[in-house]
Amino acid sequence: MCITCLTGLPSVARALDSAVPAIDFSAEERAYIDQKRAITMCVDPDWEPFERIDENGQHEGIAADLVQRVAQRTGLKIELLPTRTWDESITASKAGRCQIMSFLNKTPARDQWLSFTDPIFLDPNIIIAREEHPYIGDIRGLSNESIALPRGTMVEEHVRRDYPNLRIILTNNEPEAVALVSERKADLTVRSLIVAAYAIRKEGLFNLKIAGQVPELSNQLRIGIISSEPVLRDILDKGVKTLTAQDREMIANRHVPITIQQGFDYGLLWKLVIATLIAALFAGYWMRKLSLLNRELERLSVTDKLTGIFNRLKIDEVLESEIQRSQRYVHPFSIILLDIDHFKRVNDTHGHQAGDRILVEIAALLQTSSRETDIVGRWGGEEFMIICPHTDESGARSLAENLRKAIEGHDFTTIGRQSASFGIATYRTGDHPNDLVARADRALYSAKNAGRNRVVGE
Ligand code: GH3
Ligand code: MG
Ligand code: MG
Repeated sequence: MCITCLTGLPSVARALDSAVPAIDFSAEERAYIDQKRAITMCVDPDWEPFERIDENGQHEGIAADLVQRVAQRTGLKIELLPTRTWDESITASKAGRCQIMSFLNKTPARDQWLSFTDPIFLDPNIIIAREEHPYIGDIRGLSNESIALPRGTMVEEHVRRDYPNLRIILTNNEPEAVALVSERKADLTVRSLIVAAYAIRKEGLFNLKIAGQVPELSNQLRIGIISSEPVLRDILDKGVKTLTAQDREMIANRHVPITIQQGFDYGLLWKLVIATLIAALFAGYWMRKLSLLNRELERLSVTDKLTGIFNRLKIDEVLESEIQRSQRYVHPFSIILLDIDHFKRVNDTHGHQAGDRILVEIAALLQTSSRETDIVGRWGGEEFMIICPHTDESGARSLAENLRKAIEGHDFTTIGRQSASFGIATYRTGDHPNDLVARADRALYSAKNAGRNRVVGE
């Protein structure tokens, strides 16, 4: 037993302790305590920093101190029944060889033979992954990932039932589960925050990180009492209720910095963990926001400001890639270059703003009158280009003719009627984008010369 646990406490703790009001026990409970019978206790001999049995057979750790404090406040005397493994402790408890178990979660399986006090210690369970794993906001969102878990634990029970999306790899203990993640044999494991912080440091597994939380899976560690001892449970529960947040904090802090490497500041770890979780949440938010902003930027960079259709930059890009595609797959492809007829007059007669409106209206007409696979863009000024993949000359000619008619037949704002001339060019093997555009340009020039409002191919 941890006899020295209380002797080294700072005076503040003693002052706090003396401030604890006396527990109001019933006559039956008082009689039970007055027998001064030692209560036998089973523990986990290897669960640092919560508890362990040290080289001298003493129970030590956070659980040891908490239970001792409860014992001291209730006037109970507690004796350790030493075991070598947690399994052995469970067996001894089931067989009634120990009346209490120091520190464990309440589960339906354990309810079969134990009753429990209120929690004496709360500790979140966290997901551990390798450094490169993205933050896990919701464990249900994962697919095809493996999770290493010690067999027979509350966490295994829970994951098996609630997260069928994860593939469970069973291990004999927690260090083995963590090692599997570190060695890339499993993607994740779940562990108590305190134990994880302790082990990651102690075992130097620095390629690991806390990747997320399992909020519904926090450890609520309690004292378990065999069901045949209801009075003992009530006494211990009253003792547990006297534990304050400061008691727990002081005891946890006493063990964690000592058992973890020197210079380790547990308060700092908490701050880091919280900061990391908040940062991860914000990172998720900012990543989404950034990706939206980037998409918007990308859209703006290829959009013509006035008409909202693709700009010259995008048309150049598409021309280049279409030429490459046609080279590779021997597809036909054509371009249509369009120039508004006598547009100068529009500006001169109705003003530049009226001219702008016509450009917007023509862009919209071209967009709605062309096919979905055609790429419509503003080539510059009052010239537009339509890139028509998988289209030979006659296809391009009939599309251009449709566009010409659509413009000719449209009733434009302010000016009423307006026409445009069209030059067509079809890709020839070995063409450079400039060759294709030059041919379309020449054809357009011919269309203008031939009287405008017509389609010419070259
Ligand atoms: P055509 O092509 O039939 O030979 O005659 P045009 O009058 O259209 O001749 P040209 O191509 O030489 O003139 C183009 C005019 O388009 C000149 C310019 O003021 C006008 N323009 C170019 N870009 C814009 C623009 O963004 N807004 C407006 N309002 N006008 C523009
Ligand atoms: Mg022009
Ligand atoms: Mg013109």
